[in-house]
Amino acid sequence: MKIEFRNHVPKEFQSAIEPIIERWKWLLPPWLHLLVVTASSDQEPSLSITVDYEYRWAYLYIHPGWIGGSDEMRERNLVHELMHIHLARIHNMIDDLANRTMEEGSAFRQWAENEWDKCFEATVTDLQHVIMER
Ligand SMILES: [Zn+2]
Repeated sequence: MKIEFRNHVPKEFQSAIEPIIERWKWLLPPWLHLLVVTASSDQEPSLSITVDYEYRWAYLYIHPGWIGGSDEMRERNLVHELMHIHLARIHNMIDDLANRTMEEGSAFRQWAENEWDKCFEATVTDLQHVIMER
């Protein structure tokens, strides 16, 4: 498994995240071949992840707000995103299922997607918590 920094990740971002990735990289799934770490200008408070399961890679985006968090919060954010990598395949499967079976914009679909997102985030957060509190 390879980890690459791409698209001019600011030095302060790279030096902040490198030791955390190093500490937790054992959590990466064995099927992952490449983790690309890149910076994003989106005004989100944390990190985000995009996974292409078929090609066995993931993009980890560092948003500017992440750098301002405490060490503990930044570490928690990273482990959370690593759990998203594990669950990406099932997450995409549910999205595909919704696209094929539910009317776009219907009240039922909005409810189902909202509930699914809540369940999914709770599962990811529980996994992150169990791992970090062991
Ligand atoms: Zn999440």
